[in-house]
Amino acid sequence: MIIVMREGATQEQIDAVIERLTKAGVEVHTSVGRYRTVLGVVGDEELVAGLPLEAMPGVEKVMPVLKPYKLVSREFQHESTVIDVRGSTIGPPVFAVIAGPCSVETEEQMIETARFVKQAGATFLRGGAFKPRTSPYSFQGLGEEGLRYLKRASEETGLPVVTEVMEIRQIEVVSEYADVLQIGARNMQNFNLLLEVGKQEKPVLLKRGFSNTIEELLTAAEYIARGGNRKIVLCERGIRTFETATRNTLDISAIPIIKQLSHLPVIVDPSHAAGRADLVAPLSLAALAVGADGVIVEVHPRPAEALCDGPQSLDFPHFEAMMTEIRELAPVVGRVLARKE
Ligand code: PEP
Ligand code: MN
Repeated sequence: MIIVMREGATQEQIDAVIERLTKAGVEVHTSVGRYRTVLGVVGDEELVAGLPLEAMPGVEKVMPVLKPYKLVSREFQHESTVIDVRGSTIGPPVFAVIAGPCSVETEEQMIETARFVKQAGATFLRGGAFKPRTSPYSFQGLGEEGLRYLKRASEETGLPVVTEVMEIRQIEVVSEYADVLQIGARNMQNFNLLLEVGKQEKPVLLKRGFSNTIEELLTAAEYIARGGNRKIVLCERGIRTFETATRNTLDISAIPIIKQLSHLPVIVDPSHAAGRADLVAPLSLAALAVGADGVIVEVHPRPAEALCDGPQSLDFPHFEAMMTEIRELAPVVGRVLARKE
């Protein structure tokens, strides 16, 4: 249930409704918009079904929510969420560019990459230290050592760091070093992990599972929001289809659909979607054109030597060329690129 307060409702009126609801035994989440406050009721709605809320002063309307998510919905919060991470922004009108290697390999690789992507216009640094690999014989990531290299590269360039946390036990150590906690596609429905990152202060980048629907992605985000963490970035990274020309199929329509349904920022990962470096720039431009709030792309100083995902990684000249194209298209679609230094 969502309770929309009138424009100009007083704090006392809002508090009175919250008190009434909490006394009845439900949890209330508040969204303070530019014009009005919206209250989201979470819990057993039966407990409040009989309350004459519409008659309370300051209440405009009471709406049932038939979708399985509420706090991440546009009904609950009309204005788009904008997340600021140490000076880098994700959310309109900014188009965020998160760049870096698939995996952290060495300190030199991270510093070299961070310096390059930053001067080319990237606003965040990515790199996996804990890697979810299909084969147990593939490189599994450097773990905490990798996190240290990421942090060094971040200190060197000022770029905030996005890195994956694969399980609850890693949250503490990853939070020590990283600015944004990434939940990978394979963990999108690891509900216990979602609940735990929902209790954290750090923003969460939630990737869509490759066999999950848009509604399942939003419902997964709701698990995080329900814990109190509303700094969530959604990521379309390609889904499984019958098509074999690309590693996955980028679901480009997911972006405008999610933007309609949710106030959360949505970014695109063209690297994992395509699995081919030559498609990363065109898909990034497509993402920008359909309203995505950014891209996360794999960049490696020497893709041929990468320990993971070399074929889909951009080398430095190709990343720079893509940034030039993004910079040209961005103003045409009302977007700005931040942190160009
Ligand atoms: C990644 O971004 O490093 C990654 C493993 O992506 P995904 O979870 O989308 O496969
Ligand atoms: Mn990868």
